[in-house]
Parts: sequence; C-alpha cells; structure tokens
Amino acid sequence: MEDCIFCKIAKGEINSDKVYEDEKFVAFRDINPQAPVHILIIPKVHIPKLCDTEDANLLGEMILIANKIAEKENIKDRGYRIVINTNREAGQSVDHLHLHLLGGRIMKWPPG
Ligand code: AMP
Repeated sequence: MEDCIFCKIAKGEINSDKVYEDEKFVAFRDINPQAPVHILIIPKVHIPKLCDTEDANLLGEMILIANKIAEKENIKDRGYRIVINTNREAGQSVDHLHLHLLGGRIMKWPPG
C-alpha cells in the first residue's frame, strides 16, 4: 500500500534496523523501544490488522519467526512477550499487521 510506512520499510524505501528477512516477512527494531529487545515482525503483504486475516499459516509463521529471533537475541530462556495491538483501544498506531517481540527486562502483568 502506497502510504503505509511498514510497506515502505518492507520494500527498503525507508531505512530500518533489520534483524530478519525472508520472502514473506521482515523484522526490524522498533524506533521507540519499550524494552532492551523490541523488534517488530511484519508480513510484506499489506494486511491492516490482525482481525483482517484468517491466514493461519501466515500468523503461525510470524510467531515462529519471533521464537527464532528470541533465541538469537538471547531472551529465549530469560523470557519474552509477543503482542499484537489490534485497533485503537488496544493501542494500534500503524495500520499494517505487526507483532511486537519484547524482552530483556522483567515484564509487568496486567499490561498497561
Ligand atoms: P502499534 O502501536 O502496536 O501500532 O506499534 C507500532 C510501533 O511501530 C510503535 O512501537 C512504533 O514505535 C513503531 N514504529 C513506528 N514507525 C517506525 C519506524 N519507522 N521504524 C521502526 N519502528 C517504528
């Protein structure tokens, strides 16, 4: 999608600190990190929100990529959290499906 910032990152039109890429997904460090490790995993295809897809394979692959990156970032055994904010009340600010991978500090519960 033309005006989507994450589509532009996926195409390399906007710089990002990429940590992973394959033919379907890109992962990059969040510009405003909320934890020592804060990485966003996105599909290259433009899907606005979690509730806009029923593609179980795509969603499953995103989680498996998060697992791989957690291992690489040395947070697998310490603990990590994955979050998909969906719609405004949940705090979604970019309308391109993205999974947050957070770790490297003690997480609170319930989340804010
Ligand atoms: P959400 O609020 O769940 O929609 O998450 C959007 C995330 O994208 C926020 O954590 C932002 O800090 C992050 N973000 C926005 N623009 C960029 C960018 N250009 N590069 C990396 N992260 C970004």
